Order: sequence, then structure tokens, then C-alpha cells
Amino acid sequence: MVSDPILQIALPGPLRRLYDYLPPKESAQVPIVGCRYQIPFGRSSRTGILIAVKAASEIEPEKLKRALRQIDPQPLLGAADLRLLHWAAAYYQHPLGDVIFNALPVTLRRERSPTGVSERGLRLTAAGTAVEAASLRRAPKQLALLNALAETPQGMERSTLMSRHRISQGVIRSLLDKGWIESCPIQEPVQPTARPAKIVLNPEQREAVDQVRRHLGSFRPFLLHGVTGSGKTEVYLRLIETVVANDQQALLLVPEIGLTPQLLQRFKKSMGEGVAVLHSGLSDGERERVWQAMRQAQRPILIGTRSAVFTPMPRLGLIIVDEEHDLSYKQQEGFRYSARDLALVRGQQRGCPVVLGSATPSLESLRNSAEARYTRLNLTQRVGSARMPALMLLDIRSVHLDGGLSPALIKQLRQTLDAEEQALLFLNRRGYAPLLTCHACGWLTDCPRCDARMTHHRQSRLLWCHHCGHQRREPDHCPSCGSADLRPVGQGTERVEESLQRLFPGTPLARIDRDSTSRKGSLEVLLSRIRAGDYPLLLGTQMLAKGHHFPDVTLVAILDVDQGLFGADFRASERMAQLVLQVSGRAGRAGRPGRVLIQTRHPDHPLLQLLTTKGYEAFASEALEERRAAAFPPFSHQVLLRAESTKAADPEHFLKQAVKLGRELNGSASLEFWGPVPAPMARKAGKTRAHLLIQSAQRQPLHQWLMAWVAGLTQLSGSRRVRWSVDVDPQEML
Ligand code: ADP
Ligand code: ZN
Ligand code: ZN
Repeated sequence: MVSDPILQIALPGPLRRLYDYLPPKESAQVPIVGCRYQIPFGRSSRTGILIAVKAASEIEPEKLKRALRQIDPQPLLGAADLRLLHWAAAYYQHPLGDVIFNALPVTLRRERSPTGVSERGLRLTAAGTAVEAASLRRAPKQLALLNALAETPQGMERSTLMSRHRISQGVIRSLLDKGWIESCPIQEPVQPTARPAKIVLNPEQREAVDQVRRHLGSFRPFLLHGVTGSGKTEVYLRLIETVVANDQQALLLVPEIGLTPQLLQRFKKSMGEGVAVLHSGLSDGERERVWQAMRQAQRPILIGTRSAVFTPMPRLGLIIVDEEHDLSYKQQEGFRYSARDLALVRGQQRGCPVVLGSATPSLESLRNSAEARYTRLNLTQRVGSARMPALMLLDIRSVHLDGGLSPALIKQLRQTLDAEEQALLFLNRRGYAPLLTCHACGWLTDCPRCDARMTHHRQSRLLWCHHCGHQRREPDHCPSCGSADLRPVGQGTERVEESLQRLFPGTPLARIDRDSTSRKGSLEVLLSRIRAGDYPLLLGTQMLAKGHHFPDVTLVAILDVDQGLFGADFRASERMAQLVLQVSGRAGRAGRPGRVLIQTRHPDHPLLQLLTTKGYEAFASEALEERRAAAFPPFSHQVLLRAESTKAADPEHFLKQAVKLGRELNGSASLEFWGPVPAPMARKAGKTRAHLLIQSAQRQPLHQWLMAWVAGLTQLSGSRRVRWSVDVDPQEML
């Protein structure tokens, strides 16, 4: 008895503690760290993961319970994987169990792996193939389903089957029950692209590839700053080819898979089956299969979004983070980590190079490369004969706008269309108009649950709050005075679409935003038709802004840049500049030169001036100087404590206790406490929200203090009346 080792088990959930258990009864297995265990918990049982094996427990021996069984014969997570997760839990002050279970595929967070029911595709079984059509005379839908699947032996997506062949869930279920069809994974189609057999790298690309190649096998961070269209993807491809040839694995993180079908195709075309893809669109079963394939090093290349940074890859030899400045690398809820920053930690722990690529690097990364912590690689030229587009500000003060478009812009659009070129219009606001107002009494479409207006969506006849999701039918009459004179205020993409159709009747237009592409697969179809030249006019939100290579676009118009100029957040101008340059980067990517027109009411704004005349680098060094003067990140380090509650006074009450505790623990560390203050949107989804910002010139004392503080926060009386969270290196103050 006494010699039993103690199993230290982590469980998912908010509690910041681990649990001690004895090994399962009559188990011959030696406990292995990284395996899952089923353990008794209260009156039921739960699945946990073994973190450490100890000689003794602080719990009295007679109170210790036995684990029920060891679930995995082999560890799911190796020592290197756990090391990264330990680091992340400590750095972000998030409960270790939650961090670990976050890193597992959903199917493995429970005791058993479910059967393949969650897979996206369906195909015929042998029994299904043998069914005779005549026997299904009275079941035409079942027959239609079997016929459809007979034509697609590789399987068909459920959603396609249901929409194209008008087949219901019920029919699918009954055929699954009969064993005539079965679930199967769906292979992403690889469409052949017109890629030249082998691209000859230009000297800058060559230099970038050579530099990173020289450092394979050891940790070194690189910042690949390549202007839009400079061929960064080609650099990634060559590097990954080398890593694969060395029999190692490569991880490529991208902001959003849906927006990068071209990148995927390029990789699949040159690497074929070696490429695995991990993104939120996969079913749970598909995710687990990809995860297992990487963990067992069956595939050399993983392309994935944020959470892919945690995927076990025993032979990891290179990490690339594309568009490293992108906000989507930061998880904004629950476990609030930065996948970009964790990629660097992972590279350091594993001893491999990490390449951060961007046309508009974050100020953090620019500073790191200025201080020689990152090796800088530059691609200053567009590939081939393409040139960078010229940026022009269009002053729209006292100009009559027609549906959001100035006369000068309309004229340029007309010229572009006459020359049979493509024009892209960017407006980062979906819906018809940001609000409706009653012309008789001034009533506005306020969201009842937020300090925000409800957006008018005309096509779906809705008022829709983009902050909490609240929806209501579009009213015919003012709910306050009964007047029928309700008017939209401002422009959303739906409304601009309407104006463009009026101004350029008969010209095909593709609108790309979350509403127009909500159907699965519709974005890919639209993007490939755009590349095929089916649409002279393109209009969209940031979904249209990033990464795409549309060779025929010569004119890009940014309809409203001013939203980004005066944001409350100190990062607002950085985000504005990145977005402007990313959108601009869609212009003139092939032979014909591109132009970018930026509509603004503040043409003299110094940052806009700098950006349009001198470019991103100049803008960034100016913005960095401002940050330095104000002691903002990256010249200081921040932690944000958020609190929210349905009771208005609770968040502030808790945060005041938190400040008091924080100051007591501060000691000699020179931390600054800002707040508590109401959040920029003080009421959201029916809750009152406030926050407290802590800033420090040095990272080390901040983190030492943070650990003690977070432990103390859980003990504060006010903490039980609010929902609170800690955000280390917050990216948004929302
Ligand atoms: P970025 O990611 O920097 O915006 P891409 O990698 O998408 O640029 O490259 C733009 C286009 O140029 C792609 O179609 C790519 O195949 C092509 N390309 C890249 N490098 C070269 C090269 N050295 N010579 C010719 N074409 C190239
Ligand atoms: Zn009214
Ligand atoms: Zn709302």
C-alpha cells in the first residue's frame, strides 16, 4: 500500500488545482505521464490527464481514491508537448487542466472516441450498392440518395446532398440505420492551378530561403517582411520542401483557412498528400484524425489556424506564421493565448527556426527585429514586372456622396470598367446600414442589451446587433411614434451593392462578406469565379482584403478609412494602417499597374499622410516613437483584468478589491494600475462590464506579481459575484 505512487491528474475546467489519485486497482501498467485516466469524481467519474507521478501526497492516505482505469496505453501528449502547455498555463495564468484539454481534439476530451457519425461525408456501403432500384419504388427520396452517391464513389458532403438533392436528415438517418450508407471523410478538392512548373526565385527570395536554411536544426526567429505580392508563399514552400526532404515536420499557421484556398492549393499541388489541414470547419472526427496523423509523424506538413500551434509533432523542424500581425492569432475568450507568441516559445523549446511573415508586421515584431532579437529578411519588390500600387487620398469633405461613393471615385470606376479591368471596393461594415432612425421623432435602433445600435440587414429584413447577436424583425413603423418614415443612416456593404448596381447596371458584381458567404463552400466558389474574371466589380469586408491574388484588379477603393483613425484603443492606427495596406495590396499584382483611392474626411491626418506618401515602414517607426513616448507596448507590458455581471455595481466592486490586493502585493515592483474603468462598451448582452489595466516597464516583475495576484483574486469576496478573466498581453480593450 505505502509504496503506491501518487498520480497527479489535471482536469478541464476553471479550477486552478490538480488532483491526487492512487493508481487503478490491479493495474500492471506503469503510470505514464501524458495518458488519460478515468477517475471517480464526486458521484460520477471524469476524464483527466496524468501530469506527474509523485512519491507522496499532501492528502491523508485514507482519503485518497483510486483512479478507475488508464484510458490510453500510450501517452497522447509527449514531454515536449506538455512542456509547451505548462509554459502557456503559467504565462497566461490559465488553469493547466483547461490549457491541456484545450489542446486535445474534442473527441479525446471525453473518455471514449465517438464513432464516425460526425464526419462530413456520406458514401455507399457494399450493401447499399447492391440495393435494387425496383425495391425502392415507394421511397423515391431514398432512391435519389442512393443514385446520387453511386455517382460519387469518393463520397459526398451531407450538406451538398441535402441542398442539391433535397434530401432530409430523416432519409439519411434511415439509410444509415439500414446500413446502406456510411459516414466518410471528404477530401478537399485540389483544383489544378496555372502554376509555372518551377518558379525561379528572385534574389531576395533566394536570400531569405538560404538564410533560414542555414539555421535549420536550431532555434532562431526570423521576421520576413515582404511587401504584398512579393512571393512570401513561395519562400514558405521552398523552406518546407527542405524540411520535408530532411524527414522532418513543418507547421504553417495561417489566420483563416477559408480565406486562403489558393495557398492550400499551392501546397497540395507541390506536396500532395503530405499536407494535412486543421481548421474550425472540420468535423470532430476529421480533426482527431489529422491530430493523430501529426502526432504519429505520418504526415510531414500541417497547415492550420490558431489552435494548430498545440498539435503534437514529434519531428518538428520549422514553424512559419503567415500574416503574423493578424489579430486572429489571439484567442479572445477563455484561454486567451497568442498563437504567434506561442509559436516562438515552441520553436525555442524544440530548437527549430520560426519564421514570422507579413507585409505589415506588428509593431512588436518590428521592434524585436530592430533590437536584433529577430533576424530580418526583406522582400522589397513585387515578383515579375508587377509594381506596388500608388496610394491616393480622396478628400470627401463637402462632397456629395452617391451611396457612399464620391464623384471622383465613380469616374475612376467607370474608367476601370471601360478598360475591362477589375475594381475592388472595401468597406468593413456588413449589412445595409449601421442603424435606422425615425425621421419624425428621432428614434434609433438601439440594442436593448448593449450600448450599441442594431444594424439594418435589408435582405434578411432584420435588425441585428453585431455585438450580442440579438435580432428582431425590421419594423414597418416607428415603435415609438408610429411614423412610417424610417430611414437608414450610413452605409453597409448591402447598401453599397445597391448603389453600384444602380450606377453600373448590368455589370456583374461579387459581394463578399459574412452574410453573402454564410453557405458552406460559397466563399470558395465566389473566389474562384472572381479569379476567372467573372466579376468586374468586387465589393467586400476584410474577408476580401487579405491574401488573395486577383491578377486583374487594378483599382482598389477604400470607402471609409476614418473609422480607424480615431479609435479609443492605442492600437487603432496600427490596425488601420495594416488593413489599408493589405487591401491596397490587392491592386496591380500582375502586369497592369494598380491604383488605390482612399476616401477620407481627414486628408491631413499625419498618419494617413505618412502611410500614403512614405509607406508602412515610415508609418511604423513614427507609430513606434509615439508608443515609446507614451510607454505603451511594446515598450511596456500589460495585463487586463475584465469583470462583468448582470448587476451594475458588482464589476467595479470586485475590481476595486482587486486593485487593493494588487497594490499590497506590488511591494517594490513598479506596477501601474489604471482603473477600474467601464469597458469601452459598458453594457453588452445585458451585462455591465468594467476592467482594470496593469502595466509594467519590465516583464519579469509583472509576472511574478501576477501569479500571486491571480491566486488571491479567487479568494476575494467580490469574485463570486462577477465573471472575471485575466488577459496577458491584451490586444483589444473591448
Ligand atoms: P505574397 O504572399 O507575398 O503576397 P505570393 O506568394 O502570393 O505573394 O506571390 C504572388 C504570385 O507570384 C503567385 O502567383 C506566385 O506563384 C508568384 N511568384 C512568386 N514568386 C515568384 C517568382 N520568383 N517568379 C515568378 N512568380 C512568382
Ligand atoms: Zn418615431
Ligand atoms: Zn446587442
